[in-house]
Order: sequence, then C-alpha cells, then structure tokens
Amino acid sequence: MSEDKNAYMYGMGILKTLWLAFRHFVDTYVDDIRRRGRRYYTPEGVAYRSSKDVTGIFTVQYPEEKLPVPEEFRYMPFLVYDEVEGKKEYRCTSCGICAKVCPPQCIWIVRSSDPNTGRPIPDPAEFYIDIDICMNCGLCAEYCPFDAIKMDHDYELATYDRKSNIYDKVKLGKPLSYYSYVRPINYEREEAARREAEAQRAAHKSHA
Ligand code: SF4
Ligand code: SF4
Repeated sequence: MSEDKNAYMYGMGILKTLWLAFRHFVDTYVDDIRRRGRRYYTPEGVAYRSSKDVTGIFTVQYPEEKLPVPEEFRYMPFLVYDEVEGKKEYRCTSCGICAKVCPPQCIWIVRSSDPNTGRPIPDPAEFYIDIDICMNCGLCAEYCPFDAIKMDHDYELATYDRKSNIYDKVKLGKPLSYYSYVRPINYEREEAARREAEAQRAAHKSHA
C-alpha cells in the first residue's frame, strides 16, 4: 500500500514538473508575441526578464546578453589616469600602501627616481598585479589615499596564456572617464570632496 502511495506521489511530481515546463514553453511564445520580440538582446529586455513580472523563459543568453552589475560590484583593480593634453597622467604616487595592505601580496611596484638628484619621483616606473592571485577584495582601492586604484566591473578576462595574467602599468591603466562611467556615484562623491578641499585650501590661502 505504502509503495503504491510512493509511486503515486512520484508520478504526480513528474507530471507537475512537466506541466510547469510546458507552461513556461507556451508562456514564452505568448509573451514573445505580446511584446513583439522586444524581450531579447536589449537592456530593457534583460531587465524585463530579470523582473518579477516576467512570464515564460527568463534565462539570459550569455555572452550575447549580460546581466547588469551593481555599482559596487568589483573584479580586478585598475589604475586611474587623467588625460592632460593627450598624455596619460597616472594618479599613482607609488606610495606602496596598496601593496602593503594587499592580503595575498599580488601587487608589486618599482619606484622611480630623478637620475640627477636621486630623489624619488611620485610616479611608479613599473606597477604589476598578478590577477591570478588577486582575490578581488578591494582593499587596495579602499586604502589608496590618492583615488589612484579602483575596482573594475570587467569580468571577462579568460586567456589561453598564464603569463599574460600579470598585468603591467599599461594594461592596468584606464582613464578617469572610464571610472566615472562604471562608478558614477562614487566618482561624483569623490569629485565633490575634492572640490570642497580645494575651496577650503583657497579660502585658507586668501586669509593667510
Ligand atoms: S595605487 Fe594608490 S596606494 Fe597604491 S601605490 Fe599608487 S598611490 Fe599608493
Ligand atoms: S583587490 Fe585585494 S587581492 Fe586584489 S590587488 Fe587589491 S588588495 Fe590585492
């Protein structure tokens, strides 16, 4: 008797699952017609299929479609540079704080110095991150006093070559405009703080 009951429950479970799959199948076509195919390959389509209102298929066709990531999403770090008269001016001063706080110690910096005086120049000659070791913790960006290193959103870094996963200064460098694009809220907050600090310095000078 109990075996019959188990078989019945099992059969009902399978039927319910098949019914659900069939409903999704039909709903997908109905929704395709209703929305005239506008549910695919556009940011609006992806947003709709990620919402609670979706009916039918809700999977994303990666890599043609990608789920948007939140601003605080973090993957690899990158070095921010300003573009001044067509030249890259890295914000990094090679102070070394990021390398000190990095838990797996995957950052290394070669400092530069003035060939005449031997005094250090606040601009790294070389800057490397081993992205195979980086654990995406974001501490380097958190501790950098110059807003010179930030966490990127780009997660498509697969390569066939292990050696190319040691990123140098050029590969790590991205313009300030890129930073403002991927992290607009953070960018605005930092720029506002910078403007305020500059205004305070100017006011202090004019009173001196
Ligand atoms: S990225 Fe920031 S913390 Fe790291 S060396 Fe450059 S200025 Fe210092
Ligand atoms: S994100 Fe974390 S692990 Fe990666 S380089 Fe920065 S401090 Fe190091």
